Amino acid sequence: MAKIRIYQLAKELGMTNDELLSLLDEMGVAYKSHASTLEEDTATAVKELIGEQRVAEAARRAEEARKAIPHRPPVVVIMGHVDHGKTTLLDYLRKSRMAEKEAGGITQHVGAFEVKTPQGTVVFIDTPGHEAFTTIRQRGAKVADIAVIVVAATEGVMPQTKEAIAHAKASGAKIVFAANKMDLPGADINRVHQDLMQLGMVPVAYGGDVEVLPISAKTGQGVEALLETILLIAELEDLRADPKAEAQGVILEARIDKQAGVLVSLLVQQGTLHVGDYVVAGEHWGKIRAMLDAEGRRRNEAGPGSAVQVLGFSELPVAGETFTWVPDQVAAKEITEERIEERKAKEATAERSRGRTIADLMRSMREAEQKEINLIIRADTQGSLEAIQNILAKESTHEVQIKVLLAAVGAPSESDVLLASTAQGAILSFNVNPSGSVRKAAEQRGVPLQNFRIIYELVDEIRKMVRGQREPVYKEELLGTAEVRAIFRLSRGVVAGCMVTSGKISRNADIRVLRKGKEIWKGRIESLKRLKDDVREVAQGLECGILLEGFTDFQEGDVLEASQQVEVATD
Ligand code: GDP
Repeated sequence: MAKIRIYQLAKELGMTNDELLSLLDEMGVAYKSHASTLEEDTATAVKELIGEQRVAEAARRAEEARKAIPHRPPVVVIMGHVDHGKTTLLDYLRKSRMAEKEAGGITQHVGAFEVKTPQGTVVFIDTPGHEAFTTIRQRGAKVADIAVIVVAATEGVMPQTKEAIAHAKASGAKIVFAANKMDLPGADINRVHQDLMQLGMVPVAYGGDVEVLPISAKTGQGVEALLETILLIAELEDLRADPKAEAQGVILEARIDKQAGVLVSLLVQQGTLHVGDYVVAGEHWGKIRAMLDAEGRRRNEAGPGSAVQVLGFSELPVAGETFTWVPDQVAAKEITEERIEERKAKEATAERSRGRTIADLMRSMREAEQKEINLIIRADTQGSLEAIQNILAKESTHEVQIKVLLAAVGAPSESDVLLASTAQGAILSFNVNPSGSVRKAAEQRGVPLQNFRIIYELVDEIRKMVRGQREPVYKEELLGTAEVRAIFRLSRGVVAGCMVTSGKISRNADIRVLRKGKEIWKGRIESLKRLKDDVREVAQGLECGILLEGFTDFQEGDVLEASQQVEVATD
């Protein structure tokens, strides 16, 4: 860039002269008038500054646009070990909601319900357990913003608590623990704290950031505080949804009713769904004929955070599928037909890839340049589980991280398969044979599942996985040398007539041209000929003609050195 006058630069940047002059003042640049020339460095600095200001301006506008979108209520799922009180908590929440309505109001199961508090509204997914949650997550978008994990304070953390934590973490939901059954004499919140510490989650009571709230799902004690905490987390998450956007959300449940036909519960996540709208969900579409909310009221529209039961699908969509608004029936039909075609095409290939092995998984991870190995570890005893985890902790390398999604005692379950499948991971078990149905599920979803009887073999398999993911290391291997004896200027280029003086020269080798021992060029061979024929390689003691890609300046006595890159084993 040549020197430029101030008025020229101002024009180039779309500023007035005065604007640029005052910017130069701020920068401390001296000038006489708007006709003064600027040093090249100064002009560059001005451009960078203006560029940054424009980027900052764009970011500020984007932030303003985001802030203009209204807040939406958080969507919460309740998970935890069996009998720890998930259903009781949901019942209590549902009842507390009813208490505010006139007594005896009708409720309708629409897959989710709202709890209104003075601080705001919370939407609860009306199905306890992480199986349902994962099935939903598996197909569609993220459903729950927050997971409440119920832990009975009489028992502490149990195997399914750990599974719930793994599922919630994998989905990216924020976690709140509810230490339940605090009304019972045997309840001890400290036990819950201790157990969570063991899992590396430090409760607020211990100076960490993991919320553990004492509650009784039976008496309702502490539930209000739990709701407050949920709303606080939601506020920090700054959840927003545009009610004016095209409607989009998740199918929560779908069933056939003898009288009503196909009944679909869905959660609107973005936009507003209206009666009369067309929607597609996976391979199915519907025209919304009617909507009912959790109070059993007919609705004409449902905005972000609303769960409603709709009529209008002709076939059952799959729970967990995302639904989106489409303009009309033509679009609905075309989109669903396209999806059916796509699935059929996929199935044709999947048929061939059934029963994926760990090696297959490694190959696809390598292709995707995935540098994390996601594992679910199952073992027969706590002791062997700990032993395996201790060894694993040492196997991660700088390049490849081993991420244990879940380490638990007991046989792999179908929900493990779901978790592994979403995370593109593998399930390795030690001395616990997965059941036939779990094996089948793994096969269908392409999740590698392998049981080991000897810890060392399991560890060895993991080592192989880590090694398989490592960046290959190459070293240069010298193949041979040739000396230039004659130079032929032909129409197709300058050919060096050579004698192979050691090793061999091969067609696809890397070539260095050395003159008096110094490298003067590096590149590839364009053609390698013996007599008149193109050949793949020429051995020591033979003559050949070499045409290089982009080097013609040969001199007699130049040495051509051929080498190739070979992968080095790194252990
Ligand atoms: P889920 O399997 O996690 O859904 O557990 P449930 O909600 O079915 O609860 C299991 C049992 O614990 C039931 O008998 C409940 O009545 C009881 N329970 C749940 N929460 C509490 C509580 O806070 N206090 C007491 N005393 N019992 C509870």
